[in-house]
Amino acid sequence: MARNQTPQPNPLKDIMNRLKQRVEGADGPDPSKRKMHFSLWYFLLAMLMISWLQGHLFEQQLEKLPYSQFKQMVRDHQVESVVLEPDRIRGEFKQEGKDKRAFVTVRVEDPDLVRTLDEKEVKYTGLQENKWVVLVLSWLMPMALLILFWSFLIRRMGGGAQGVLSVGKARVKIYAEREVGVGFDDVAGIDEAKAELQEIVEFLKFPEKFQKLGGKIPKGVLLVGAPGTGKTLLAKAVAGEAGVPFFSMSGSDFVEMFVGVGAARVRDLFGQAKQNAPCIIFLDELDALGKARGLNPMGGHDEREQTLNQLLVEMDGFEANSGVIIMAATNRPEILDPALLRAGRFDRHVAIDRPDIRGREAILKIHSRSVKLVADLDLQKIAAMTPGFVGADLANLVNEAALLAARRGREDVGLSEFQEAIDRIIGGLEKKNRAINPKEKRIVAYHEAGHALVAMSVANADPVNKITIIPRGIAALGYTQQLPTEDRYLMTREELLDRLQVLLGGRVAEEIVFEDSSTGAQNDLQRATDIARSMVMEYGMSSRLGLLTYTREPRSPYLQTGATGAREFSEQTQQQIDEEMGELIGQAHQRVRFILLEKREHLNRLAEILLEREVLDGEELKAFTAAVRADAGGVGGSGGPMHQHKDI
Ligand code: ADP
Ligand code: MG
Ligand code: ZN
Repeated sequence: MARNQTPQPNPLKDIMNRLKQRVEGADGPDPSKRKMHFSLWYFLLAMLMISWLQGHLFEQQLEKLPYSQFKQMVRDHQVESVVLEPDRIRGEFKQEGKDKRAFVTVRVEDPDLVRTLDEKEVKYTGLQENKWVVLVLSWLMPMALLILFWSFLIRRMGGGAQGVLSVGKARVKIYAEREVGVGFDDVAGIDEAKAELQEIVEFLKFPEKFQKLGGKIPKGVLLVGAPGTGKTLLAKAVAGEAGVPFFSMSGSDFVEMFVGVGAARVRDLFGQAKQNAPCIIFLDELDALGKARGLNPMGGHDEREQTLNQLLVEMDGFEANSGVIIMAATNRPEILDPALLRAGRFDRHVAIDRPDIRGREAILKIHSRSVKLVADLDLQKIAAMTPGFVGADLANLVNEAALLAARRGREDVGLSEFQEAIDRIIGGLEKKNRAINPKEKRIVAYHEAGHALVAMSVANADPVNKITIIPRGIAALGYTQQLPTEDRYLMTREELLDRLQVLLGGRVAEEIVFEDSSTGAQNDLQRATDIARSMVMEYGMSSRLGLLTYTREPRSPYLQTGATGAREFSEQTQQQIDEEMGELIGQAHQRVRFILLEKREHLNRLAEILLEREVLDGEELKAFTAAVRADAGGVGGSGGPMHQHKDI
């Protein structure tokens, strides 16, 4: 593939275009059809030529002779002249008049042939003419076939519109959508982001107002948030509110297999946008395109880098007040090239958080507009049951619940459908008949009971909402669901320690009851280790290591540790970190052992209930929790060997 990637018009492309126009006539009907004709045209032409040549040049009524007969005729002076070809001999008989008869014979190994021909005075010559026929057959034909195949491939990959000669044209889903059909009313739960973008809407609507005062509107706005939080939706809503065209392209659309195509697309996209200003360019999934250069362990990706460079050039290349706003979305800002985040490019960042409980309620309201709900359904209650859900999850939830209600033949969607849909989304589909042997079931029951009991006993854990040992999905054999009473943004040391204990609860219960351990705690241990590591290395929560962080300074505001690898502290410090982490986990382990041994009876009872009923939730669970707490006689305050729990 040609590597010359200058932004100037490509001379080769130019010539080919002119050629194409000659073949097609300057104004072919429709670009996509035109290309199609183009390659077929040459192909057909070549085929025709070949068959014509074959018909007229060599196959003129040739008489086929056996070699022996040919030899005899030479001896009899009946042959006028021959042409010696590599594998056959053509010749003409001696004859009066214009109509000379021609013949052909297969060439046989015969060293004396030339001498015989000399003796009998036959004119002979080697094959000279028609070399170009061979050329056509051996060279042009395969070429034509290759080109045909190539263009076919391109068309397949490119999804249709453009062909071999115009790969560079942006086949942007030119969403030059005049009407996106989405407004701020369709977005909920992310009010701060909405407020920030309101300014952009104002600018797009009344550019003069801002220009008059000489204010500069940011060119690039980067929406940062987890998948499904509504980034794409919000970008569309901005266009909808402002009533401007919306050019949308996804980062992966730019990354093509042919070097230079992505860059050409970027150029085209910006060219089109400038003609349509005011408008919005939206680059979805920017990380696919804007990965930091040199971050790829497999060596460079020329194509992506060129595309990224082109994007940077285009962003620098137009005035801040030209009326084109570039929005982009990503859920992995940490891997973006720092050059993208510099002033004058995507310098305005809008964080899109997971919705809080009121936000979730509002989103549920939006998505249940077209769903018939039970009259007294309390969406707030459902919002309370779905901490951590993002907009896309909630949309999915409403849909699942509606489908369930339909399957049950109900008139409207009620709480039980939502409850089941939540279970389904959280844990994967219920595998009711999954066989699980009784011994495993006992282990799972005690494991979950252990988690739950520790959560009920420590001071700072979220209340337990549901315990189940019904296997779900492929991985989880059971789970203990804790419901946060409020959304959390900060966690204290005490809370982290308590969380560690809850995570260890399952494993320790197994140890106590079966005096053995199983592999089922792997995920718990992993999470516990992560917490312990963060406490020591990031949060400065280890007295021995003090208020230092041991993570590398990020290259961009979002770049996470680990991306660049190297450790920046001594072997000795590493050892202390390991020891501190070990100590945190060890202390938590002892403490949990203490709790569970003290509450061994509750543990047994809870496990028995689970073995019998498989699920415990609602009022019964609340009653059980109350009993545990009342009975505990101040476990929280008595203080294990490690740290005091302050009941707040
Ligand atoms: P992202 O681009 O952040 O991954 P999307 O914008 O594609 O998420 O969201 C997917 C769908 O989820 C949207 O089409 C919408 O139906 C729903 N959704 C997500 N966030 C919200 C929200 N804040 N308000 C209403 N609906 C939302
Ligand atoms: Mg998206
Ligand atoms: Zn567990």
